[in-house]
Amino acid sequence: MIRLAWPDLGEEELAAIAEVLETGQLTMGPKVAEFEHGLAAACDVADAVVVSSGTAALHLAVLALGIGPGDEVIVPAYTFPATANVVALAGAKPVLVDVDPETMNVLPQAVTDAITERTRAVLVVHLFGRPARWEELEAAVPDGMALLEDAAGALGAQRGKRACGGLGRLGCLSFHPRKIVTTGEGGAVTTGDEGVAAAVRTMRHHGWSSDDMPTPGLNYRLSDVLCALGITQLRRLEALLEQRERLAAAYSERLPDGIRLPGADDGDRHGWQAYVVQLDRRNEALNALRGAGIEAQIGTYALHRLGAYAEQGPFPGADEVYERALALPFHNRLTRHDVDRIAEVLTSHVSE
Ligand SMILES: *Cc1c(COP(=O)(O)O)cnc(C)c1O
Repeated sequence: MIRLAWPDLGEEELAAIAEVLETGQLTMGPKVAEFEHGLAAACDVADAVVVSSGTAALHLAVLALGIGPGDEVIVPAYTFPATANVVALAGAKPVLVDVDPETMNVLPQAVTDAITERTRAVLVVHLFGRPARWEELEAAVPDGMALLEDAAGALGAQRGKRACGGLGRLGCLSFHPRKIVTTGEGGAVTTGDEGVAAAVRTMRHHGWSSDDMPTPGLNYRLSDVLCALGITQLRRLEALLEQRERLAAAYSERLPDGIRLPGADDGDRHGWQAYVVQLDRRNEALNALRGAGIEAQIGTYALHRLGAYAEQGPFPGADEVYERALALPFHNRLTRHDVDRIAEVLTSHVSE
């Protein structure tokens, strides 16, 4: 069996966890601040606030901006559902817009067309780690409108020389095991806006602000045990990225014509959260891979095809990608031989 994902964990992580266990301080301790400093530096922003998941980061980001009933937030029609769910749960309306099948990221023109007087923000996703065309998006919205980043899969990615997670008013990261840096579950809000950082910090901890509770909050904290895991991985981020770049190159050498390969714009650095190709008869390819003992998966979801968002659409770009995208095994235990086996199955699929 060739697995889809496999977190890169070892002795260093074990030692880091053991060290926290020995201190007896499992939460709200020094590892939280240390992980936050590392993340802020990686995204080139003043502040990072760690939370219990990427979804928690997105949820607190929306709440920290005061987005609620009567407001609209523009989100891609093709993304992990949490991007839209947090907007809906805050009482606002997630307004879906179509994506470019080539990049799988949101179409700037579709963003412009969706703006109304209720639009409070655009939640841009760097899908699977591919940096969105940021300047085009900035030009697509009125001056001063908040562009937010769902950078859940984009830690380490760069748009030109600028780090993803540091492009917008705020960014949201995830440390789920299918992301490049993992804590099992975890996430962070990155921002240069002091007010946003303070609001997220307050709301992840029940709404406490020194000895008062001015507004109700949640418990979205991340434990010191998990921060210690994250710190060790974040130190290796460059090496982890380079390994994935080599693996992506191996795939692109071996995969046959007739498959659309992932990539980033010239001058950008892909974050390689996942390796997602597009091809005809995707479901058949998925079955052929599974039949050969290779774990593969669809890319992500077309939200208008889920019950919660079924009243919006049509989105032909999102439909196309939803039907054609295929995530291939992508982790550091994958051997050249594994890549050969995967390429063989796909070569016979496209020649059928
Ligand atoms: C993984 C992911 C999320 C959710 O992160 P969790 O940590 O699993 O809650 C949200 N958006 C995108 C684009 C993701 O890839």
